[in-house]
Amino acid sequence: MLKGIAASAGVNVAKAYKLEAPVVVIEKKAGEPVEEIKKFDDALAKTVKDIEGVKERAAKRLSEEELAVFDAHLMMANDPEFAGQIKSMIENEKVNAEYAADTVANQMVAMFEAMDNDYFRERAADIKDVTFRLKCNLLGLQIPDLTAIDEPTIIVAHDLTPSDTAQLNEWVKGFATAIGGKTSHSAIMANSLEIPAVVGCSGVLEAVQTGDVIGLDALDGFVYVNPDEEKVKELEEKAARYAEEKEALKVLVNAKSITTDDHEVELAGNIGGFKDVEGVLKNGGEGVGLFRTEFLYMDNDHFPTEEEQFEAYKQVLEGMEGKKVVVRTLDIGGDKKLSYYTFPEEMNPFLGYRAIRLCLKEQDIFRTQLRALCRASVYGKLCIMFPMIATINEFRQAKAIYEDVKAELIAEGVQVADDIQVGMMVEIPAAAVLADEFSKYADFFSIGTNDLIQYSMAADRMSENVSYLYQPYNPSILRLINMTIKGAHKNGRWVGMCGAMAGEPYAVPILLGLGLDEFSMSATQILKARKVVTSLSYAEMQKLADHCLNLDSAEEVLDYVKSVVD
Ligand code: PEP
Ligand code: MG
Repeated sequence: MLKGIAASAGVNVAKAYKLEAPVVVIEKKAGEPVEEIKKFDDALAKTVKDIEGVKERAAKRLSEEELAVFDAHLMMANDPEFAGQIKSMIENEKVNAEYAADTVANQMVAMFEAMDNDYFRERAADIKDVTFRLKCNLLGLQIPDLTAIDEPTIIVAHDLTPSDTAQLNEWVKGFATAIGGKTSHSAIMANSLEIPAVVGCSGVLEAVQTGDVIGLDALDGFVYVNPDEEKVKELEEKAARYAEEKEALKVLVNAKSITTDDHEVELAGNIGGFKDVEGVLKNGGEGVGLFRTEFLYMDNDHFPTEEEQFEAYKQVLEGMEGKKVVVRTLDIGGDKKLSYYTFPEEMNPFLGYRAIRLCLKEQDIFRTQLRALCRASVYGKLCIMFPMIATINEFRQAKAIYEDVKAELIAEGVQVADDIQVGMMVEIPAAAVLADEFSKYADFFSIGTNDLIQYSMAADRMSENVSYLYQPYNPSILRLINMTIKGAHKNGRWVGMCGAMAGEPYAVPILLGLGLDEFSMSATQILKARKVVTSLSYAEMQKLADHCLNLDSAEEVLDYVKSVVD
C-alpha cells in the first residue's frame, strides 16, 4: 500500500499500465547524405502522421483549447526552418540523421529556454516533445500510445504530460503519479475528465509493473499493488457506495436550494472559461458566481483584444441560458503572471501591484475588458465585479471608468443591457470591516475566502510551511464574513462567496446561518452542497452560526458543527 494525494475523486480496481518512455541513445556516425535525408524525411512524415492520429483520437474527449497542444506540435514538425537546419547539417557534416536532429533540436531548446518568457519556454517543451517522437521513429523505437488502450486500465507514471493526459480514453479507469499536487496540471485534467487520480505518490513507479492489479482509492489517496481478494472486495464496495452517492445526488439537479423551513439560497459554479459551462449546468448550477477571466489573458501570447474578449463573454452568457453570470475583471499579479507583460520587481507580489490596482493604473487594459463586457451584456444576465478592492475610493474609481465606457458605447450606438449589476470581491480584511459603507456603492459582494484568509492570518496561500493557518473555521474569519453579510444586508445588497470555503460541506451550515445568499464552487461540489442545504433548517443554522461566532478556535467550530449536523 502506498500513500499519495487524492487529486480527483473515485475508486477503481484494474490492471496497471506503467507508462515508460523508451530510452533514446544517440550516437554520432558518418552518413551518406542522400540516404540520411531520405531516412529523415520518412521519419518526419511518420511523426506528423503520428501526432495527427493522436490528435484525432483525443478529439473525441477534449475541447479545442485542450487540443491546442497538438497543433503546436504539428506546427513545429511542419516548420521548414527546423527541417531545413537538420538537412543542412546532414549534408554539410555528412552525419547520421538522428545525430543531426538531436543536435539541432538541442540548440533550439537551449535558445528558447534561455529566454525570460513563458511563451518561449513552452515552445522549448514542444520542440523536445516533437524531436523525441522523431528520434524514436528514426531509431525504430516504439512510443507508448495511450489512445490504443482498450481494456480497463490504471496508468502509473512519474507524471503525465499535457499530451499524455490528452490521450486518455474511456478505458483509463484512473492514474497514479509519483509527483504532483492537487493543483498540478494532471490533477486539474483528471477532475475535468472525471478520472480518479492519486498524485504525489512517491515509490509508485518502483512498486508497480505493467500487468499488476492496482486498487486505486482516490477518495483517501491510497494505491494498493496486487491487493488480496478481501481488499479488492472492500474497494469494490467503496466504489459502489461512491457511485451510489453520486447517482443519488442527481435527483437534486433540478431541485431548489431551499432549507426545510423555506429559506432559499443560490448555488452557483466557478468557471475559467466557456468549456466549464456545461459542467455547471449538468451539476445543477443556478448561475456562475465567479468567471475567472485571467485565464483568457494567461492562455494567450498577447492581451486579448476587445473582439476576442467579447466573443468569450458572449459564449458564456449565451451558454448559461439567461442564468446569472458574475464576471470578475482582470485579477492578475501575485502568482498569476503574463508571458507578454513585465510586472515590477516587488518583495511581496501578493501585497503588490495586482488586480484592480493594476487596472486603475493601466486603464487601456481595463477599458478594453469593460467594453467587451458591456457589449456582451445583451446576451444574458451579467454581473461585473472588481477584485482586490481595499478602499471605497478604488471602488468608486473603477465604477466611474465602467460608467464612462458604458456611456461611450451608447454614444456609439451600441446596445448595452440596462440591468448590469456592478459589485466587488471582499477578500481584503479592510473591505470586510467596512462592508456597511461599501454596500452604499456596490450592488453586491462576493467573498473571496482564499485571499481573505491569507490576508487575515498573514499566511501566504502558496507556502506549505504556513498552510496550517489556512483556517476557514477560525472564528476570526467567521466574524469577518458575518460583518460582510450584515453590512451588505443593511443596504439591501446580496452577498455571495466564491472562495473554496463556499463548497466545504461543514462550512455550508455556518454560512447559511450567517445569511449568505449565494454559494459559488467547483461544479462537482454543487449537488453535495444542495443536499446539505435541503436537509437543514435555516432557523437552527442561525443559532448554530451565532454559537460558532463565540467559540475560541477553528477546531472547536468544526467539532461543534459536526456534532450538530452529522
Ligand atoms: C479568492 O480569493 O477566494 C478567490 C475566489 O479568488 P482567487 O482564488 O482567484 O484569488
Ligand atoms: Mg482572490
